[in-house]
Amino acid sequence: LASRDFKKENTVFSIDGSQIGGNKIIIMAGPCAIENREQIVETALAVKKAGAVALRGGAFKPRTSPYSFQGLGEEGLKLMAEARDMAGMAAVTEVTAPEQVALVAQYADVLQIGARNMQNFALLNAVGESHKPVLLKRGMSSTIEEFLNAAEYILSHNNPRVILCERGIRTFETYTRNTLDINAIPVLKSLTHLPVVVDPSHGTGKREYVAAVSKAAIAAGADGLIIEVHPDPEVALSDGAQSLRPHEFEELMKELKPIAEAV
Ligand code: PEP
Ligand code: MN
Repeated sequence: LASRDFKKENTVFSIDGSQIGGNKIIIMAGPCAIENREQIVETALAVKKAGAVALRGGAFKPRTSPYSFQGLGEEGLKLMAEARDMAGMAAVTEVTAPEQVALVAQYADVLQIGARNMQNFALLNAVGESHKPVLLKRGMSSTIEEFLNAAEYILSHNNPRVILCERGIRTFETYTRNTLDINAIPVLKSLTHLPVVVDPSHGTGKREYVAAVSKAAIAAGADGLIIEVHPDPEVALSDGAQSLRPHEFEELMKELKPIAEAV
């Protein structure tokens, strides 16, 4: 179902009135994790003003260590929905377990499947059965074929609205957090009709490289970006080192415009 052989035309669908998979670039932005009302509201208003159409933010955080901040749970979802409504945009947030899908779907416009859960087949089936678009992140050690098979689980459970997200993979290189696989963009665009977005924040892990990689992703044909933005990255509870400050995000949005127009 994910294959271009099955369906030739690009899959295009609306996220809160903005088309993804069509001619326009879609930007989703926000903090790694929802931390408190002030943080999420301030970020939502700033990224919306700069041109983002969707707010991102995690309430259920799949952290490497059990002692790291795990997210605010349902309280976080409520704050996210409040900020989303104030800013007038869509909201993307991660769901980490099948039994959470109904709850998260009450607050979110797009359900995110994190890299660590790309092959959590029970979860893929559960979001397939929901009626929300799904942003599926590539597993950090998965091949493109495995990535597309993960999408296939969602599609085969009757949910056609899947967005693929390249977020960097593990390589021998350790200077950056992950190695963003730029190749995956044209490869996926040729193999599948699904929209492809890039996460330059997790792809690099370092704020100073996010802008360059964002531009490369758009130039390579990505349909959009999902970028971490935090009003004060120094005190962020997760992923501060890779989060842009609102003014840096605004600057990047301006720099992306001519590239988006050229592709
Ligand atoms: C995130 O989006 O904050 C996240 C945890 O991403 P990933 O699943 O790609 O690591
Ligand atoms: Mn993060």
